[in-house]
Amino acid sequence: MLSGLNLLLLSTSVGPLGSGLGGGVELTLHNIAKALTQRGHRITIVAPATSVSLFPLIEIPGDWQTTAQSEGRSAPIVMSKNSVLAGMWEHAHNVQESYDLLLNFAYDWLPFYLTPFFRRPIAHLVSMGSLTDAMDRIIARVAEQFPHTIAVHSRAQAATFPFADRCRVLGNGFNLSLYQFNPQPQRQLGWVGRIAPEKGLEDAVAAAQQTGIPLRVWGVLQDEAYWQQVRQAYLNAPVTYEGFLPTGELQQALGMCQGLVMTPRWVEAFGNVAIEALACGVPVIAYRRGGPAEIVRDGETGWLVEPDSVEGLVAAIARLDELDRRACRQQAEQDYSLEAMSDRLEQWFTDCLTLHQPIKTQPIK
Ligand code: UDP
Repeated sequence: MLSGLNLLLLSTSVGPLGSGLGGGVELTLHNIAKALTQRGHRITIVAPATSVSLFPLIEIPGDWQTTAQSEGRSAPIVMSKNSVLAGMWEHAHNVQESYDLLLNFAYDWLPFYLTPFFRRPIAHLVSMGSLTDAMDRIIARVAEQFPHTIAVHSRAQAATFPFADRCRVLGNGFNLSLYQFNPQPQRQLGWVGRIAPEKGLEDAVAAAQQTGIPLRVWGVLQDEAYWQQVRQAYLNAPVTYEGFLPTGELQQALGMCQGLVMTPRWVEAFGNVAIEALACGVPVIAYRRGGPAEIVRDGETGWLVEPDSVEGLVAAIARLDELDRRACRQQAEQDYSLEAMSDRLEQWFTDCLTLHQPIKTQPIK
């Protein structure tokens, strides 16, 4: 058992905590901070300026990184002249002696590259699947030199990397007391996430048009042109954009849905919103791809649908009534509590701390 660690959590550099630009990483970071605090560890978060957090926070000014999802496989690493990412890691380097372990949440090249230059161990929680060759290569190098320090959220996410067998699969954990079970939904469906092409919103909208069941959309409008394109393509779809809500309000609205529809085009690393829906008693209809396919119990807590099939979504929507909303809440409690996540995190940290002996590798060519 670990006790009383001093931990420095380094957030994503694509936007401040609370903005929604960081996607699921924002909630994941706060859930992990909560889980570890409950176990008696001390947490400090380093994040871009204007971040909002209830935990001790060091805010670093500077330009945000661009998100990796929209770049091609051969995209180079780009740093702006006033990079917040560089500022965050410079700070971490300066204060590292005050901490036992650093925990990296950023899907960025720099923290991986810097790992051998730090005296303190760095545990990396990788939040997306393989997107660029440069990232694959630098993460692979850390996985080789510092075994045990690379964790991911799902087996499907790990499988996208050439070093899949070196990834520790952590799942995720949620503060379930923030989510209320709602046994009596209204006739409506929910879609939650960043509004961006890799999230495949158009398929959910197409299904709403075919079924005539209202679809409520929550999330950061990351790509306005994409949103307009989807609206224009399905002019008769009963769709409303409900904005980006804090967790307390989101769960209340989500709980009123008959089902959550998840239609990602990419290998979703996990899909926090699936667990948030289940915690409210809302079954999840998702493509059989990526993290959601590992979460949903087909025919029990949702329906898994052939990827990219709108017909499949429509058929699954018609069968939502067959699912017991209590089973959804139970699954969230069984598999995704903060307590279960704390156990997995502490095991991971133990390995990172006890095995912190860099293995010699060849210089990067
Ligand atoms: N979210 C939110 N308010 C909203 C819509 C979404 O707080 O109105 C959060 C949601 O709680 C989840 C995140 O946005 O944590 C989306 O994360 P997910 O893992 O589903 O996808 P990602 O954006 O990381 O690809």
